[in-house]
Amino acid sequence: MIYPIVKFGNRVLETPAATVTAFDKELEKLTEDMFESMYAAHGVGLAAPQIGISRRIAVIDTSFKEDDGAKLVLINPEIIKTEGKQSGGEGCLSIPEFRERVTRGNKVTIRAQDLKGKHFEMTGEALLARAFLHETDHLNGKLFISHISALKRNLIKGKIKKLQKAGEWM
Ligand SMILES: [Zn+2]
Repeated sequence: MIYPIVKFGNRVLETPAATVTAFDKELEKLTEDMFESMYAAHGVGLAAPQIGISRRIAVIDTSFKEDDGAKLVLINPEIIKTEGKQSGGEGCLSIPEFRERVTRGNKVTIRAQDLKGKHFEMTGEALLARAFLHETDHLNGKLFISHISALKRNLIKGKIKKLQKAGEWM
């Protein structure tokens, strides 16, 4: 099932999501639907609040379907280590059409649970590190525009307000 992507302005995106405690079939189905929704929206990462579900679940595929082994399900992820710096363009399916340069850690280690509830740690670099940080931020109710200057952020918010008024931001 493909879920519509929730856009900026919806409070679910700025609300910390709830910890997942049940590792069942329903969770597995939800992550499958999240991959499907993410691919349909041409994204490489998706957090559950972006489909209106306030639970600590994220899916990532930085290969975008090229490599099945690149598909990652992160349940209750936490950032445990960040090293180095990278600066590059970043966007978000919930803030479509707006991309900004965001400086992030370049090597990031997460601790998360898999679909069975088993804990694991994983280190990613470059785009994967950026995805770890971006998606974990989502689960804490934080959007990438919180990492840019207030001036740029307000400019984006102003443009979105206009789009909302025109009925072009649903
Ligand atoms: Zn995002």
